Amino acid sequence: MSTGQPGPRWRNWSGTVGCRPAQLLAPTTEDEVVAAVRAAGERGSPVRPVGSGHSFNALACTDGLLLDLSRYRGVLAVDAAAGEVTVLGGTTLGELAEALDRRGLALANLGTLAEQSVAGAISTGNHGSGLAHAPLSAQVVRLRLVTADGRVRTLDADREPEVFRCARTALGTLGVLSTVTLRCVPQFNLRVSYRTEPLDTVLDGFADWAAEADHVAFSWLPWQERAGLRALRVTAAPRTRDAVRRRYATTIDEVRCGLIGLAGRADTRAVPWLKGRRWRSTRPAVEYVDASHRVFTFPQPVRFLALEHALPLEATPDALRALRRTLRRAGAYSPYSVLVRVGAGDDSPLSPAYGRRTGYVNLTVPRTAGQVELLRAIEPVLRDHGGRPHWGKAHTATAEVLAPRYREWALFQRVRATLDPDGVFASDYTDRVLGPVRPARAPTVVSAQAGPDPAVAVGDGG
Ligand SMILES: Cc1cc2nc3c(=O)[nH]c(=O)nc-3n(C[C@H](O)[C@H](O)[C@H](O)COP(=O)(O)OP(=O)(O)OC[C@H]3O[C@@H](n4cnc5c(N)ncnc54)[C@H](O)[C@@H]3O)c2cc1C
Repeated sequence: MSTGQPGPRWRNWSGTVGCRPAQLLAPTTEDEVVAAVRAAGERGSPVRPVGSGHSFNALACTDGLLLDLSRYRGVLAVDAAAGEVTVLGGTTLGELAEALDRRGLALANLGTLAEQSVAGAISTGNHGSGLAHAPLSAQVVRLRLVTADGRVRTLDADREPEVFRCARTALGTLGVLSTVTLRCVPQFNLRVSYRTEPLDTVLDGFADWAAEADHVAFSWLPWQERAGLRALRVTAAPRTRDAVRRRYATTIDEVRCGLIGLAGRADTRAVPWLKGRRWRSTRPAVEYVDASHRVFTFPQPVRFLALEHALPLEATPDALRALRRTLRRAGAYSPYSVLVRVGAGDDSPLSPAYGRRTGYVNLTVPRTAGQVELLRAIEPVLRDHGGRPHWGKAHTATAEVLAPRYREWALFQRVRATLDPDGVFASDYTDRVLGPVRPARAPTVVSAQAGPDPAVAVGDGG
């Protein structure tokens, strides 16, 4: 295990939050993870695990031990017949996707970035798009969790099922995810097609649009009337020759947004002018076919800040109309499009998609003061429409705001108090978003009988 000197400064990918942990350790084996957690517990030091640091907030920050899992990576086992793959928690989604591809397998869905760790992505409710697809954490079939007492618990739907459900979206507050077994599917190609439509047409037919392809998303610049729609359909067709070139089109768009963000940092109202009234995306209007993981993700070299909320699917069109009114009234804009995605419901108590089909609304902004104000302006709009913030993105919600939005909040808190009664995995930030750990007065039995609300349909979009 590499032992950092006390006090190294740590910053997240975005560079927007940082901390100075008393100790930074980068374990490479499960025994080292266990030893680090035990030693920290004995000296009363808090612990926060961190993967690739791609969360836009202070989730990973601590003044105690920062357990950097970025060297704890690798694919341990692939069971093609069972459709399962087991990886170390620090493995990146990209490494996992490439390893599966070499064996003729794939993950059924992915978000837009390949660099995050599997454990970090699971812990924050990371998601892609598609009405039949719940967040990545719903693909977890088994995991090994190093808890505050230094034990390693193996959890799945049969062994400690309630703890398992909670541990699938736990923000690193129940322990360290050591290994994770995920469902995988036979490798598949996707046909990508783009078109533009008036935003109002898309919003009027939102439910039909959301169901029109295996994976759908649209991007929209709020001063414009038209949105860019992207549909991905599973296909038996082979990869087309232009696939590599097409793949980088979105990256080029993002670099241009970054440059415009720099040019417009003094005044967010100048952004539409800087982009040109008729901003032409580099994205092609033609179709192409590529391997699924190369379509889902693309390189994102420009650092930015993002806010995303998970809304009830049916509330999403109204939320977008309200967002348009708010931004147009202010006349202030980001050079990045608002990104809208959809997903199936999830049964993990703290999953932002818990219990409902979901519309995800994301606004990305350059890291300048004026642009960050935009996030402050739109957050209440999304909150008023039933939004739950993405755990890994910027937001100002507190436990008081969040608790009523999660039906099984109390179950999560009971599991947390049982596994980590002394708050070893707590921090100022987790106190803000989850509240402090409140140890149960009587010993808490986490019932194996309790279950999610029968109304909660997992993968209910299929
Ligand atoms: C450019 C970019 C694109 C993005 N695209 C998407 C997207 O398409 N969809 C989406 O949903 N999100 C997206 N995100 C958000 C991001 O993917 C998530 O926040 C994710 O958590 C980041 O993973 P990470 O490894 O960086 O986690 P970190 O930020 O390192 O950690 C996140 C949380 O997980 C915990 N954690 C990390 N490792 C472990 C472990 N081994 N055991 C227990 N807890 C652990 C940490 O304590 C922390 O609470 C994007 C972010 C960026 C910067």
